[in-house]
Amino acid sequence: MQIDYLIIGQGISGTWLSYYLQKEGKSFLVIDNHFKEAPSRISAGIINPVTGRRHVEVWMAKEILPFAWNAYTQLGKELGISAISQKNIIDFFPGPQMRVSFLQRVEEKGEYVFNYAEQNQFHSMFNYEFGCGEIRPAYTAHLETLLPVWRQQLKERKTLLEEEFDFNELKISLSKIHYKDIIADKIIFCDGNSSCNNPYFHLLPFAPNKGELLIAEIPGLPQTSIYKKGMMLVPLVTKGLWWVGSDYAWKFENADPTNAFRERTEQLLKDWLKIPYKIVAHLSGTRPATLERRPFVGIHPHHPNVGLLNGMGTKGCSLAPFFARQLTENLVYKKPVLPEADIMRFSKILAR
Ligand SMILES: Cc1cc2nc3c(=O)[nH]c(=O)nc-3n(C[C@H](O)[C@H](O)[C@H](O)COP(=O)(O)OP(=O)(O)OC[C@H]3O[C@@H](n4cnc5c(N)ncnc54)[C@H](O)[C@@H]3O)c2cc1C
Repeated sequence: MQIDYLIIGQGISGTWLSYYLQKEGKSFLVIDNHFKEAPSRISAGIINPVTGRRHVEVWMAKEILPFAWNAYTQLGKELGISAISQKNIIDFFPGPQMRVSFLQRVEEKGEYVFNYAEQNQFHSMFNYEFGCGEIRPAYTAHLETLLPVWRQQLKERKTLLEEEFDFNELKISLSKIHYKDIIADKIIFCDGNSSCNNPYFHLLPFAPNKGELLIAEIPGLPQTSIYKKGMMLVPLVTKGLWWVGSDYAWKFENADPTNAFRERTEQLLKDWLKIPYKIVAHLSGTRPATLERRPFVGIHPHHPNVGLLNGMGTKGCSLAPFFARQLTENLVYKKPVLPEADIMRFSKILAR
């Protein structure tokens, strides 16, 4: 089989890269082992315009957020699904200090943060002593619908191999790559944290970050908003189901769910919610984060047939479509990748 690109991984990065390459009329094959705890399969799908205690605008918000909204909307239309929703985030202040800092940000005319007029609106559902603010617009990408539907389309077009990628079978010559009976112009790795062990990319400053979550049934909660008080409560596509999380651990023994997270989060829900709920799952995974919190995108500086779309960290839902498009334009039209994301910046490290 002879193709233009061999793509490893069908998380959110591999999904968007294969979509854009398809749009350019390129031939490709995706290999994916359908790892159940891949971050793309357990993510909340939140696209939040602000970050941190100070609610500062996220990196490149003005470009990346509208791009994501348009990209998911368009892909959803093409697939006949809803791939993204616009939401507001109701931010319940956990204490007086958080209230002061949020309201200060509103006074400073910080974008995306607003006073919430109906302070008493949620008293029948939540306990909150210090009031709430509003963050908008935020979005939820519906990865639990999008990834399987795209996968099904890849299968129908015979462009998906459901198996483990085996490095021993990969041979790279000057102009082509060979993998089993496949010959391709380039191989592009979209395999999340597996790239930490990839002989071409393991020297990059990856910093995997573990996150856990609960899935809860909360039938009485309006699904028009995301709710936040220390943790996020995010409506899932299945009516009545909510994503509850997450934490951020830089040091961890393994990627398994822990009792400590479950107990802490159950206590938080007990204190916060006034309406009935039931926990139905506890999951965990590791985000493909990077030390300098910027993605890894582009062609290997010393191996022109090997590429990477990775390092999406905590923001894969917004970054993946934007940088998959950049990588596609780089591959097809030789347009440059944004220098802050281009793996060329690690040319010296990758020469070792
Ligand atoms: C708990 C949690 C909550 C999160 N919430 C959000 C959120 O709300 N918003 C947000 O923007 N981001 C969130 N993230 C981060 C987001 O999920 C990631 O940035 C994103 O999913 C990374 O996508 P990816 O496709 O690059 O990698 P991955 O999701 O890791 O996908 C890699 C794919 O490659 C496949 N693969 C790997 N190795 C091999 C191999 N050897 N052979 C074959 N196939 C292979 C895997 O099966 C997988 O399908 C969250 C992450 C976690 C863990």
